[in-house]
Amino acid sequence: MRSRATRPTTSRCTKAPCCEEVRELTPENHPATAAEAASIIGIGVRPALSLAEQAGLAIDRGITVDEYLETSVPGIFAAGDIARWPDQLTGERIRVEHWVVAERQGQTAARNILGRRERFDAVPFFWTEQYDFSLAYVGHAERFDKAEIEGQLNAEKHDCTITYRRGGKKLAVALVHRDLEGLRAELEFEKTMRGELGR
Ligand SMILES: Cc1cc2nc3c(=O)[nH]c(=O)nc-3n(C[C@H](O)[C@H](O)[C@H](O)COP(=O)(O)OP(=O)(O)OC[C@H]3O[C@@H](n4cnc5c(N)ncnc54)[C@H](O)[C@@H]3O)c2cc1C
Repeated sequence: MRSRATRPTTSRCTKAPCCEEVRELTPENHPATAAEAASIIGIGVRPALSLAEQAGLAIDRGITVDEYLETSVPGIFAAGDIARWPDQLTGERIRVEHWVVAERQGQTAARNILGRRERFDAVPFFWTEQYDFSLAYVGHAERFDKAEIEGQLNAEKHDCTITYRRGGKKLAVALVHRDLEGLRAELEFEKTMRGELGR
């Protein structure tokens, strides 16, 4: 996945007391230097639910689907950023905005539209590259009570694994320049979901 920094989003300046909502950062509306610009975070993606609401689908901060990605109305499926599905690893209903998840859900939904009863049980995954910094994230930890860092993440070296746990249970890992470890983590999560590992 490549960075999509050019995609238009609403941004909020993190620099107090500015904090005005801006559509586009320009030298005029925000005289940030290049160094300051590094601290600006663009957050603002919201699922467009009006069509689904009008169609009478069950909504819960996204379109509610079951493990087959079917909505509350039989025969109507939802996939990708808009879908909130029952995640086997956490036991919670989650909605994830990751490219690979949307792609995999689209495939599962398409097969189920054609009549297969296939559960969506893929482990959420994303990766991104920002210049020479590569990050992958496997699993889903909306809330966690412990984050352990193994390796190095400083000015000299970017090479680490961050493990997120809740109540002792491993829910997600973030990996910096450790692709192979990311694949191993995905496999481990899959085994956990299938009940092959007791954690
Ligand atoms: C700035 C940004 C950076 C991102 N970077 C990453 C990244 O590095 N890694 C990663 O994994 N993910 C990233 N993502 C998330 C990723 O882009 C999404 O998870 C993915 O695109 C979701 O795919 P989707 O098909 O569910 O939704 P979308 O790609 O949003 O597609 C939905 C489509 O439906 C269309 N649509 C909406 N309403 C209607 C309607 N009523 N009728 C017809 N068409 C309609 C929309 O126009 C759109 O084309 C990023 C997202 C953003 C915004």
